[in-house]
Amino acid sequence: MTDAPLPDDAAQIPVRVRPEIAALPAYQQGKQAGADAFKLSSNENPFDPLPGVLEAVHAATALNRYPDATAGRLRERLAERFGVEQSSVHVGAGSVSILTQLVLATSGPGDEVIFAWRSFEAYPWLAIVAGATPVQVPLTDDARHDLPAMAAAVTPRTRAIIVCSPNNPTGPIVTQAEFDAFLALVPRDVLVILDEAYAEFITDPDAVDGLRVLGTQGHPNVVALRTFSKAFGLAGLRVGYAIGHPRILDAARSTSIPLSVTAQAEVAALASLDAEDALLERVRTIAARRDALAAALRETGWRVPDAQGNFVWLPGGAETMQIAAAFDAAGLIVRPFAGEGLRISVGEEDSVEKVLSIAASVVKDLPEAHPGRGLA
Ligand SMILES: *Cc1c(COP(=O)(O)O)cnc(C)c1O
Repeated sequence: MTDAPLPDDAAQIPVRVRPEIAALPAYQQGKQAGADAFKLSSNENPFDPLPGVLEAVHAATALNRYPDATAGRLRERLAERFGVEQSSVHVGAGSVSILTQLVLATSGPGDEVIFAWRSFEAYPWLAIVAGATPVQVPLTDDARHDLPAMAAAVTPRTRAIIVCSPNNPTGPIVTQAEFDAFLALVPRDVLVILDEAYAEFITDPDAVDGLRVLGTQGHPNVVALRTFSKAFGLAGLRVGYAIGHPRILDAARSTSIPLSVTAQAEVAALASLDAEDALLERVRTIAARRDALAAALRETGWRVPDAQGNFVWLPGGAETMQIAAAFDAAGLIVRPFAGEGLRISVGEEDSVEKVLSIAASVVKDLPEAHPGRGLA
């Protein structure tokens, strides 16, 4: 990306900045939800922290001390839970930070990082920050990963491939069979990152399971990424983890900003793991709410792709920003992707009826052949 054109306002930056960095759009703060609005724009968990979490965080009072650099207790606990060696677990300040580490460790200028598109908005950004070239492979018509096309996009310059299942923001999973067939086509020395940020919400038994891939199938080039931000409801504390080959995780760790997982995040994650029953109950509630929301949206006439995370996707096409404004006016903050569609998180129970009523009213105004219109 060394030939990235300088943005028009680059002259306003008082120092020399890498052109591809100067060209990145400045971070835009998401809309703050008003007191009576529902914030359905960041796939957050609507529930309070799990039992025991607040107490654990309160008890972690040694704020003058640096945390344990490797989050050893949490790694040990995750290793036990998933039946792997502790050296196969890496903890980071959110799984996005581990994604960044993995891309930095594998990919530099001239190298290529492949991922599906539309997918998680961090992917192109972290490839560019590493100096590498993002390679986007379009989703299929039903908003799923096109894994054969992703395998076909591999070149001698490919260093990493990111697979997101369920896909943020569109919702569908990758099946185990699709993933197995894909791995058979990918060179063994190319890192495959399986981003499973929403794994806990999956109800489709055919979905790929990163831990199974790693455990029984022995693919040392696969790293599975999970997070405490979504199902566990700890987005504000920043803690996620990777499971994979120890030497790959060592390389990732070498690129990391040291000591970024706080003691408070670590004890909160440990307490959350202790509350497994309460977690599963919440996850079931959210998954059931999601299924009901998706089904009801389809009944109103929307073409909603399979939803396996804690969010649904409305293909808003050219009308996306108008539709988002209609939700906004009704006190529903959703996440629009201009020209493509809207992602709506499954939030508080009371938000569901409101979402449905706006969705039903806007779908009527869509033109006949609009991509958001269902076949019914
Ligand atoms: C939310 C999310 C993550 C995790 O974010 P962290 O809070 O950094 O753990 C990772 N990948 C995808 C696709 C996500 O949607």
